[in-house]
Amino acid sequence: MVKQTIQIFARVKPTVRKQQQGIYSIDEDEKLTPSLEIILPRDLADGFVNNKRESYRFKFQRIFDQDAKQETIFENIAKPVAESVLAGYNGTIFAYGQTGSGKTFTITGGAERYSDRGIIPRTLSYIFEQLQKDSSKIYTTHISYLEIYNECGYDLLDPRHEASSLEDLPKVTVLEDPDQNIHLKNLSLHQATTEEEALNLLFLGDTNRMIAETPMNQASTRSHCIFTIHLSSKEPGSATVRHAKLHLVDLAGSERVAKTGVGGQLLTEAKYINLSLHYLEQVIIALSEKHRSHIPYRNSMMTSVLRDSLGGNCMTTMIATLSLEKRNIDESISTCRFAQRVALIKNEAVLNEEIDPKLMIIRLQKEIQELKDELAIVTGEQRTEALTEAELLQLEKLITSFLEDQDPESKLEVGADMRKIHHCFHYLKKLLHDKKIHRQSTAPSENKDQNCQEPLKEEEYKKLRDILQQRDNEINILVNMLKKEKKKAQDALHLSSMDRSELRHGQSSPFPPGNPDGPKTLPLSASTQALDSSTSPYRSSLLHRKTGMREEMSLGRQEAFEIFKRDHADSVTIEDNKQILKQRFSEAKALGESINEARSKIGRLKEEITQRHVQQVALGISENIPVPSVPDQLEEKLRSQLEEEKRRYKTMFARLKALKVEIEHLQLLMDKAKVKLQKEFETWWAEEATSLQVNSPAVTASNHMKPFPQMSEAQHERSQPLSNKSDVYARKILPSPGPLLRNQGQSSPAAPVEDSIPERPVSSVPLTGDSQTDSDILAFIKARQNILQRTGFQ
Ligand code: ADP
Ligand code: MG
Repeated sequence: MVKQTIQIFARVKPTVRKQQQGIYSIDEDEKLTPSLEIILPRDLADGFVNNKRESYRFKFQRIFDQDAKQETIFENIAKPVAESVLAGYNGTIFAYGQTGSGKTFTITGGAERYSDRGIIPRTLSYIFEQLQKDSSKIYTTHISYLEIYNECGYDLLDPRHEASSLEDLPKVTVLEDPDQNIHLKNLSLHQATTEEEALNLLFLGDTNRMIAETPMNQASTRSHCIFTIHLSSKEPGSATVRHAKLHLVDLAGSERVAKTGVGGQLLTEAKYINLSLHYLEQVIIALSEKHRSHIPYRNSMMTSVLRDSLGGNCMTTMIATLSLEKRNIDESISTCRFAQRVALIKNEAVLNEEIDPKLMIIRLQKEIQELKDELAIVTGEQRTEALTEAELLQLEKLITSFLEDQDPESKLEVGADMRKIHHCFHYLKKLLHDKKIHRQSTAPSENKDQNCQEPLKEEEYKKLRDILQQRDNEINILVNMLKKEKKKAQDALHLSSMDRSELRHGQSSPFPPGNPDGPKTLPLSASTQALDSSTSPYRSSLLHRKTGMREEMSLGRQEAFEIFKRDHADSVTIEDNKQILKQRFSEAKALGESINEARSKIGRLKEEITQRHVQQVALGISENIPVPSVPDQLEEKLRSQLEEEKRRYKTMFARLKALKVEIEHLQLLMDKAKVKLQKEFETWWAEEATSLQVNSPAVTASNHMKPFPQMSEAQHERSQPLSNKSDVYARKILPSPGPLLRNQGQSSPAAPVEDSIPERPVSSVPLTGDSQTDSDILAFIKARQNILQRTGFQ
């Protein structure tokens, strides 16, 4: 058992503006626990009497400042937890902080760069690497991904996500067994045998979550996501199985209501927007108070699911994510205060061991055999399953004399042998049974002549059989008649219509005649095509969803999508990743070739060494010299060359493996970005459609069209005359400045992301250069009007 308080870490998100840096300081004295001091800016601390404090100090296990890399976070926070999970203990890492403070970035990772991958992909990578190294145990890994939104649980990996919306899926519910263990009904567990498979599940879940999100339901900030790695391990031959769970939790934004930032309400305990976080806090307060017997876990789904992680059988770690800017000071202080309370909670992690029933049976069977053998040695007689003929005869004699014995007290004694006892019971049962039958068969014939009995029975039997045959025939005839009558009636009613539809059906059948397998083989070949570009069913489902969305697009909409895509800042990221992917592919290809070369070189070297051996033996025989026991110089050289080549091969192989994971990750990132792009386009499109319907018929493109929401700032400014109305909206959701800056310098549209989408006609490309003339603007308006006309909005 390992007793430990919940470990708390703080991570400060990089601030955009440098002047914010005076707001906090980190004191990392080697001897003391590191502390974070949040300094209240003058203009906030002054001006009201009640709040005299100017700074707040909070202790953490470790504090990661703005420049901390994802790698460092993993090494210091997640790796120790992953190690204890591998040893068989439960583990939990949860990120807590206000929206935008970097919870998702820390837990899952950034959506752009491979190096930005967060705790989940790195932990998966680490765990699978360790599992491969350890051949002393047999491991099984399963993944589940749960989202809790408004107290309802959703399975993000439910295969039915493809067809239905989140609300239509069966809800995940919490069940408690008599031992107070929590079980989650409707949450699917997916086995993952490799890192790639697990990674695919993560991306599938994230994409499902993204698709389910609507502007009305900003699930990503209000929901909790729990990614769980279930690991079981067993030593070969042992009946004990160890189960460990690792929950990686991205909590809902911890922001509270009554956030004024100034005035008397500053730093007073405001209420959570999210009710389940309120319950989480209640549980944590209850746990940190001594002598509290009742902990209100049952109040919310999240606290029920994480019950073991909070004051139970688990090693738990919390990461307080902080966005330390002036306007976030009060939220940051709340987050730190919460962390201080969490740090008081003690957990007791125990090894979760269980006996495998199947292995237990095998073990017991073995034990029985051993006991039998022992018994045989002690009694001196070899017992078999069956009794011998002589034993059986003797038993029957005993039974007969027992039955014949008039003494009611008499006993049937066969000794302490279960086989004999069982045999006696069987024998007695049989006797009783035989006697009963005998009595039945003799009763009716008692008054008759024994000789007449047999023919009479035979005659009766024949008669009955004939009657039965007749009835059968009657029934058959009646059924046939009924069928004919029914058909006649139907024919009279539907004759003409049926004829026509039959004809139609015959003509339009999509399957070639004489091929009964048609309906089966067609969808099958289609699905193999869909699988072509992907390595796993999960990835193919991401792609399928993506392409499925586009297939429904009309031509005009596709064109609008093209423009939208080009103006979207994310397309730069996609393009960048595409370039990186290309590089990685060519690197992998080159590496593959070098590996093949190394392999053949190893083969050649081995052959040379063998030949050298043969030569020496031959020399020994012909010249009668004994073959030297140690390799000669030449062989020594060949051997060291071989070793060197093997080392090279191993290094290259390891690099290729890592490249494969990176390529897979990049592909998934790109897929996700594409789905996101498409989803945002759909939203934009729907908004356009509604606004057009509202404003119709006096609509003109110049004053009612919204700009594409993710349009880069430069393009946006250039299109001001077109979009005077919605720039606030456009700015609000502009992504990070990195890709935008790059986009500004770009004068020609990015290469199409989807090769299969038809190229845009050059005439409809608006806003391509700095010297934008009126005619360009007009061309743009015309292009948009074209799109709208084509799709029936004008
Ligand atoms: P949350 O999940 O807490 O709402 P996010 O993880 O989505 O916040 O972060 C908000 C934004 O800040 C994202 O664009 C993310 O990429 C960026 N971000 C967060 N933390 C970091 C960091 N440590 N380094 C770089 N960017 C970060
Ligand atoms: Mg988030």
